[in-house]
Amino acid sequence: MTIETKTTIQLSDLINIEFECRACGATTSWPIGVAKNPPTSCRCRDEQWMPIGGQVYRDISALIDLVQRLSNTDGEKFVMRLRLKG
Ligand SMILES: [Zn+2]
Repeated sequence: MTIETKTTIQLSDLINIEFECRACGATTSWPIGVAKNPPTSCRCRDEQWMPIGGQVYRDISALIDLVQRLSNTDGEKFVMRLRLKG
């Protein structure tokens, strides 16, 4: 017998969005329900992670918006899950 374990998440399982500075390891996180835009820098260095309004900034902001809107699919006839690499 082979048993396969799959780990999935629903968007409603996501509670925080976190950003970690690769230089110093400091993290910034917000509850997903109130997050709007990503942080654009860390206090450890005088350089930006991304320009405000740039493609990455806009994509992360759009992702936050999508996660917020798709977290509640109670009225839908489906359940959407994302599978994690196991
Ligand atoms: Zn840093």
